[in-house]
Amino acid sequence: MAGRVGTKVVRGARTLPEGAGAPVVPPLVQSVAFDHASMAEQDAVFGNERPGYVYGRYGNPTTAALEQLLADLDELPHATCFVSGMSAIHALLTTFRGPLVVQEDCYGGTRALLERMRAEEERDVAFFDATDPAAFGAPEAGSLVLVEAVSNPFLRVVDIAQIVRVAHAAGAVVAVDATFATPVLVRPATLGADIVVHSLTKYLNGHGDVMGGSVASSVELGAALTERVMLDGAYLPPHEAWLCIRGLRTLELRMRRQCESALAIASHLLAHPKVAQVRYPGLPGHPQHALATRQFGGLYGGIVGMTLVRDERDAAFRFLDALDLAASATTLGDLFTEVLYPPVSSHRRLDPAERARLGMTDGFVRISVGIEDPSDIIAELDAALEKV
Ligand code: PLP
Repeated sequence: MAGRVGTKVVRGARTLPEGAGAPVVPPLVQSVAFDHASMAEQDAVFGNERPGYVYGRYGNPTTAALEQLLADLDELPHATCFVSGMSAIHALLTTFRGPLVVQEDCYGGTRALLERMRAEEERDVAFFDATDPAAFGAPEAGSLVLVEAVSNPFLRVVDIAQIVRVAHAAGAVVAVDATFATPVLVRPATLGADIVVHSLTKYLNGHGDVMGGSVASSVELGAALTERVMLDGAYLPPHEAWLCIRGLRTLELRMRRQCESALAIASHLLAHPKVAQVRYPGLPGHPQHALATRQFGGLYGGIVGMTLVRDERDAAFRFLDALDLAASATTLGDLFTEVLYPPVSSHRRLDPAERARLGMTDGFVRISVGIEDPSDIIAELDAALEKV
């Protein structure tokens, strides 16, 4: 290369050396801008007349590779990736202009966002009990119905096909947040859902080192979301996408192990004298056990909820403080066990009376079961329960 040192270091190594053979792992394209052979070519890419990349906020090949994989997993034509699950949900709810009909016991962040949209933007938002078909009624035509396949953290299981039947008959569309279930348990589009949302931060990445979210949908809605993300600036950066692709490689292995361990742990806790109630869709006593068995093909997820006999915040704090292996972390779905106290974290903004009405009292904790040896997790939970 011509030029002096100061120029060579700036302009050298801009492309990879020519070589035979393609990498078996998709390259991490960590570039903000993309060069084109001519201005005419760049103009065509800018104008969406030909595929390509121009600027990191508009698109990136590594993130696009993840989007293709997610569309494929969710069995929908298109997927758009965002910087977090909440930014994915926010983009969906604000791109869609009609009334919003949402499961009442959804993730606390989603619920808080909807409450804000209702109060500040006068959006038409209604909450409903998604496990009670009678409560669902018929949504208004043009509504968006949003449910969680398994709700966080109440672990209620929603009959997706039933919700879709009622919603479609009324002229509404259905979005399913499948963060807890993952495509290993259910592909909502195969049951008729129009849109699938994931927090990639959880099981799909699974290693506790990436935040991200996705919306899989029709090509038309996908184009609107992509257009939106270009202006909102919430597009998932390539490094996160690359890590998420790597995390996804082991999704099915992790999920199967986590489901198996969660069932063992839930069954153990059921008989524990310090535990008043265990919530796990795999237990025969769970209200939607039969539905979960049918809908998820014999897997029940990796999250277990329990309420302590001493149904108090202090008891929950003592239990959490005594844990070591199971970190008291404000997330879930990672390959290590994580225990959360929702009243101070995910559901902090929810009115305590409403929390209690939905079934969350002060002694409730949520366990996200990891891939460690389940006997070690059980031993640690038992030791921490002794401190309660
Ligand atoms: N959806 C569900 C079911 C969740 O549990 C969460 C977070 O816990 C989100 C969405 C939001 O995802 P994120 O934290 O990546 O924004």
